[in-house]
Amino acid sequence: MAAAAALLDPAFGAGVAIGYGSHVAADACTPSGVPLLAPLTRRRWWLLPRRTRIPTGSLRELGVAALLTAGAIAGTVML
Ligand SMILES: [Zn+2]
Repeated sequence: MAAAAALLDPAFGAGVAIGYGSHVAADACTPSGVPLLAPLTRRRWWLLPRRTRIPTGSLRELGVAALLTAGAIAGTVML
């Protein structure tokens, strides 16, 4: 997908790759993890230790989203 987008425009392709990668990384922080090597194996992968994983729709997810949003806004203001 990102490679196809890069054929149209390298900056657009980089944006698609970053968006895709960050989405998978965020999913890897949830209790269900991601089947990174599917369909080769059904094994799931996580970025966080079991007790620190962030359930979707939880108060913890809202807090993390608020922190990331505030960081993005602060980063944009400083540019
Ligand atoms: Zn997802």
